[in-house]
Amino acid sequence: MALPKRVVIEEDSPRDGFQIEPRPIPTEEKIAFIDQLSETGVAEIQCTAFVHPKRVPQMADAEAVMAGIRRRPGVRYTAIAPNLKGAERALAAGVDKLIVFLSATESHNRANVQMSREESLRGFEPVVRLARDRGVPVRGSISCSFGCRFEGRVPADEVVRLARAYWDMGVQEVNLSDTTGMGNPVLVGDVVARVMAALPRTTISIHLHNTTNTGFANAYAALQAGAIHFSGSVGGLGGCPFAPKATGNIPTEDLVHMFEEMGVQTGVDLERLIECARLAERIVGRELPGQVMKAGVNWRLVSLEEWQRGCRP
Ligand code: ZN
Repeated sequence: MALPKRVVIEEDSPRDGFQIEPRPIPTEEKIAFIDQLSETGVAEIQCTAFVHPKRVPQMADAEAVMAGIRRRPGVRYTAIAPNLKGAERALAAGVDKLIVFLSATESHNRANVQMSREESLRGFEPVVRLARDRGVPVRGSISCSFGCRFEGRVPADEVVRLARAYWDMGVQEVNLSDTTGMGNPVLVGDVVARVMAALPRTTISIHLHNTTNTGFANAYAALQAGAIHFSGSVGGLGGCPFAPKATGNIPTEDLVHMFEEMGVQTGVDLERLIECARLAERIVGRELPGQVMKAGVNWRLVSLEEWQRGCRP
């Protein structure tokens, strides 16, 4: 079976991971963390969110984070901006891409942003126009693309409809996000294939959660369906603060490890990414669920003599 030879890896932990941490993380720790991520070979880093500081206090330093990071050429530094005010702030801070988001279901959208999906879409129109005027691309994210804790299964046609609404307003990248981790490989493969077939000129990126341990099988299914842009969070840091019981971002280093073992190039230096996962553990002060950082990479072997002397891979 022909799999893509190469994928694009995006790191979301500075936003998706840190945003739900109860302890305020000092700005300089976030900056040092993003700078270290910049050296791993990831193509894109979701750095922060330009949201109301009362709503997400951990992201109140968005401007300072963007101003403080050392930008490595070739890496895109992105941020969430859910409305015009946020977009103005994000563009002034020099983001390389703006991210807007809505949910695939009405209930989750109302729980998350207290608006209907149509209201969300209308609110994005001036954001997209402003970003376009400044030459900055916009990603339209669709949360709960593979299931919603309020409404259950999401019809694939709904995901296609929302992806088309994004395209019609000038958004050329759509992110399908398994916010609740309810996806399974058959479903994810089907939805990804349908969106790609319906919108061949839209770039599709995939954000998976490992909430019920289907995250990696889902990534494989998305890859088979033709997706080549994947995001994760080192160590598996973070989740979604608004979806009941939703935890477990997919650990980026485990995803990179799987892809590389399958012969799919990621362009990522895995050892360096694992160091970032360890740094994330130190920042949040607890063990994270990433597996490769504990088990070691498959291609690091020990000789029998070393094993007998007590060395472990
Ligand atoms: Zn996530």
